[in-house]
Amino acid sequence: MLQAEIKSLLREDISILIKVPNSGKHYLCDCGEASLLTVKEIQSVSAIFISHTHIDHFSNFDGIFRHQIGSGEKIVICGPKNIHHQIEARLKSYTWNLVGENAIEYEIREIVSKEEINVYKIRPPHWNLEWVKTQHFLFEDEYVNVDFAILDHKTDSIAYLFKEKDSVTFNENTSEFKKGKWISELKTAFENNNSDKEIEIEQTVYKAADLFHLLERNAGYKLGVIMDHAVCENNYEKIKTVFKEADMVYIETFYKDEDQEFAKQNYHSFATASGKIMNECEVKEAIPIHFSRRYTESDKLEIETAFYKTFREN
Ligand SMILES: [Zn+2]
Ligand SMILES: [Zn+2]
Repeated sequence: MLQAEIKSLLREDISILIKVPNSGKHYLCDCGEASLLTVKEIQSVSAIFISHTHIDHFSNFDGIFRHQIGSGEKIVICGPKNIHHQIEARLKSYTWNLVGENAIEYEIREIVSKEEINVYKIRPPHWNLEWVKTQHFLFEDEYVNVDFAILDHKTDSIAYLFKEKDSVTFNENTSEFKKGKWISELKTAFENNNSDKEIEIEQTVYKAADLFHLLERNAGYKLGVIMDHAVCENNYEKIKTVFKEADMVYIETFYKDEDQEFAKQNYHSFATASGKIMNECEVKEAIPIHFSRRYTESDKLEIETAFYKTFREN
């Protein structure tokens, strides 16, 4: 099951690392200061997901690529409109005369709309953007599919949902057959919807469809990260569409209820509002994140208390 770790301390900006179990593969959500993020973790990041480029979410991007260049890897960066130009500007602001063109490759995916994702490539030492293609989905690899919502924070703020792929398991207790390589053949037939495939078990041939009852489909874990967003119905409709019944969601809760006037001015959320939308989404677990830097540990506790009270209401 996917695991998220908050890598920033209280009063630091926000950065969340998502780990894929047993793979050594990580995804990074936003590049705020992150004292708890190690060099080894940064070097295992295969994709970076930027919600928006306010400085508290993007200032440590330099600190991230500092440890990636030289790896020779291809790393994906997803982000809102114009992200490709902002990344280009950051990379071009250094001198790269000692770095070869194979030191790294970034593939940037600019989210223009729900259906339009522009893909660009950028490489050292000149870091000139190359347009590759336009595609209709954001991100998929062997472990996850990533869905998203484009929220309003007076600028686009992308909320991401990481969906682990469904898995198929063999239900030993319902089977009278001896285990063998036929189990993996059966799983493959099941995944490919190939009901007529012939499966041989102990010298007898069966039709795959007649054995499918020995398999079980387990829904993949769904983990969401919702960063800065205004409290408004339009955002909530989008959040409900994408995050409904997710297993775990981290959600921006910048202000205490008593400071909700600031939330309104700054297109942010506050404790009860974030708790309420998570309740309406019927997510299994939710965690408030990204508090105003003015707040102390006791303000944080106040936010959490108000958040969970609303989140857990029937
Ligand atoms: Zn912001
Ligand atoms: Zn922020």
